[in-house]
Amino acid sequence: MMNEPDQIVTKRQDYFFPSIGHFYQTPPKITNGQMQYLYDHNSNEYTDFFAGVSVMNCGHSNPDIMANTIEQLQQLQHTTTLYLTQMNVDLAEQLASILPGDIRRTFFCVTGSEANEGAMALARMHTKKNGFIALSGGLHGRTHLTLSVTGIPMWRLDDQLVNENIHFVDRPHSLSISTEEAMEQSLQQIETVLQNHGDNISAMILEPIQGNGGIITYPKDYLKKVKALLESYEVLLIVDEVQTGYGRTGKMFAIEHYDIVPDIIVTAKALGNGIPISTFSTTNEIAQSFNKPSASTFGGNPVASATALSVLKYIEKNELVQHAQGLGGYLKEKLQSLSSPFIQEVRGIGLMVGIQTQSVDSIEQSSADITDMVLEKMKQLGFLVGKNGLNRDVIAFQPPLVITKEDIDSMVSSLERVLEEIESTLKGDGFENDC
Ligand code: PMP
Repeated sequence: MMNEPDQIVTKRQDYFFPSIGHFYQTPPKITNGQMQYLYDHNSNEYTDFFAGVSVMNCGHSNPDIMANTIEQLQQLQHTTTLYLTQMNVDLAEQLASILPGDIRRTFFCVTGSEANEGAMALARMHTKKNGFIALSGGLHGRTHLTLSVTGIPMWRLDDQLVNENIHFVDRPHSLSISTEEAMEQSLQQIETVLQNHGDNISAMILEPIQGNGGIITYPKDYLKKVKALLESYEVLLIVDEVQTGYGRTGKMFAIEHYDIVPDIIVTAKALGNGIPISTFSTTNEIAQSFNKPSASTFGGNPVASATALSVLKYIEKNELVQHAQGLGGYLKEKLQSLSSPFIQEVRGIGLMVGIQTQSVDSIEQSSADITDMVLEKMKQLGFLVGKNGLNRDVIAFQPPLVITKEDIDSMVSSLERVLEEIESTLKGDGFENDC
């Protein structure tokens, strides 16, 4: 039986874990998706500016991609990686041609957490060392070890995590000090950790651009300096591209913005465009260290691999990387041109852009409240935007890469109106019903 949205909320409250939340006071019930658009049970259209948190880079139910998924489902759904099949080797070969540097061997898994977990195990096996360095504000998954290196307090189950030999350092971004100072501080902290514990640290793990941490990019030279420091202590660099991979930031992989090659690169989300598949990839040399028989039941299964192959083909054929770069710049400029007391900073790169909101003295509402108001009102106007950040006060724009300039224009003009309305409402001018 079909349920109305409020009945779905009740069922979630009854049968999901109490910790499972949702966006919006009145969340839409999404029933259909087509490229950059989503539809609710009443056929209201929404332009999707969150893409399932950077998953649906090629758009919802993209017919070109789905045709291959369906064909593969009909031909061979699943067997075991212990037998020979075509799709996963073709995908591994294809990935080797686009991954940076001499990274060419791939291990297939299903989720981002699982792939990060595998990457961290590989780093331990290769270096025969145990510890990790991680950045504040980073997010790497929900498994025991990946949560242990996650630097967002609201996600962590502190008492139950591995704390021994996991060292957090500040990310090179702060709203209270300059970028240069934040970078120097972060580098200094890494160096101190390495001096004190370097002989027992296997890797540093970081996102090249933090997603859930609030769309945080790093100063141009930061990662070069980090890599040099790590190398001097024979510590590997694991780059978590789960949210940034496959064109999102205007490069195939976000690490390319920083002109360095990591030792291990992890991808997930957008590779399957909604069909679960994830990877960790490395060099010939490091891959030799994964010396235990290991296979994932579903990792690299024929359906996910066929889908991922068509995702890569679609990205190339439709020049989505270039599209993300061009339109991302356009989106950022338009957001920067908005004038609102609630906007503290616009940041990001490609189609991964965030607005850091702020409160103002004359009102009671926090920046997180303002962010929620923006999300709710944008939804009413037909736009689903995201939110993230350590204080849940960053409005996130991570649309499918097939978004158009017109979609961006209408979203930004709606956002301008929403910000003005919120300002008027909170200052008591009573514009609320105009929305
Ligand atoms: N790493 C990053 C950067 C992520 O954004 C996420 C999920 N939001 C994960 C890892 C975990 O991925 P999954 O939920 O597929 O396990």
